[in-house]
Amino acid sequence: MASADVIDRLAELAEPGLMGTPSGRFFGWVIGGTLPAALAADWLVSAWDQNAGLRYSSPAAAALEETAGAWLLDVLDLPRGSDVGFTTGATMANFVGLAAGRQFVLDRLGWDVSERGLTGAPPVTVLVGAERHSTVDAALRYLGLGTPTSVASDDQGCILPDALRAALARVDGPVVVALQAGNIHSGASDPFEETIALAHDHDAWVHVDGAFGLWAAASPKLRHLVSGLEAADSWATDAHKTLNVPYDCGVAIVSRPEVIRATFGVHASYLVADQLGPGDQLEKVPELSRRARGVPVWAALQSLGRSGTVALVERLVDTARALADGVERIPTVEVLNDVVFTQVCMSFGSDERTRRATDRLIAEGDVWMSGSRWRDRDVLRISVSNWSTDAADVATAIAAVERAATAAAE
Ligand SMILES: *Cc1c(COP(=O)(O)O)cnc(C)c1O
Repeated sequence: MASADVIDRLAELAEPGLMGTPSGRFFGWVIGGTLPAALAADWLVSAWDQNAGLRYSSPAAAALEETAGAWLLDVLDLPRGSDVGFTTGATMANFVGLAAGRQFVLDRLGWDVSERGLTGAPPVTVLVGAERHSTVDAALRYLGLGTPTSVASDDQGCILPDALRAALARVDGPVVVALQAGNIHSGASDPFEETIALAHDHDAWVHVDGAFGLWAAASPKLRHLVSGLEAADSWATDAHKTLNVPYDCGVAIVSRPEVIRATFGVHASYLVADQLGPGDQLEKVPELSRRARGVPVWAALQSLGRSGTVALVERLVDTARALADGVERIPTVEVLNDVVFTQVCMSFGSDERTRRATDRLIAEGDVWMSGSRWRDRDVLRISVSNWSTDAADVATAIAAVERAATAAAE
């Protein structure tokens, strides 16, 4: 088949099954749209077809990804000099940060896990908040660390410092603490100042899963939500959510480059190592050959600039508040979370009504929101993650929720 015909056929086959995720009226999961410059940059990445594992195999890709990494540290105000690796998503960014933690806490006891493996190693305790994201558990599984110890959280899903203190007091041995910026239901973040200090008192490695919530750090108005976060040891975030680059792109940030490079570095005579200092991507992520997925991040940040990046994050939060205000005026709707960031969870009274309203809303199709379950209740959840959501989309969404509420009440 001729190439053009293949593409026509592909489009014809795929279109009935595509989700409207790039739309400003898509509020499901935590997805994000695509900034035009980031989309075009992504096409170039494919057309260039570079292998971006090594500077030696693509100096341009290495330079662009290093620049994007430095800009991210700057905009998120994280320790300069941290290693920045571009992964497929926050799942793998969590894997990277937790792998560094495993390496670090065992190394401190004289156990080099890169050399000796986990068999016979001192057992590593991992403490996590009760409402951590399920991909933290997945990453720990991949790392051979098993199911973590869950620490109680408050009514917004944030880890309770007293509970963490008590859990740490019970641990004898190496410990990793995984905290969260941005609960997927409430948008709330763990109290970092207190919890990171507690964890460090116990020589723990502290990792923060901030897939979307880390972006609060970019805004002077929102930074208080994550204050103290810069004291952690590693951070995971996504560029394909809040920053609105195309799928896929996550970001793994590790404050101690030597730890992550000992974990992932691959060395062979034909892999000419970076001589300039910043280090090759293959030392920062669990891949050798890789796509230059940091290049769309470069393009997104270049097109937004610092003020545009701050404005993007603040607009998402303002939009979430406007949606929460609008739906709260509907008599049968109750907003269940404190709307501090981009997430809104609502109930329509009973679980059954909430499920009916959710089904109705999705069947109607004007907007898309996720059904979920939070704190023992069925909820309809809004996530505002798309740069293009505007006031008209907000009005459309509120009207759709109102119709669903009326239908569910019948
Ligand atoms: C989305 C999300 C993840 C997983 O990220 P992927 O990019 O889907 O791999 C992890 N943690 C949180 C809090 C998330 O919202």
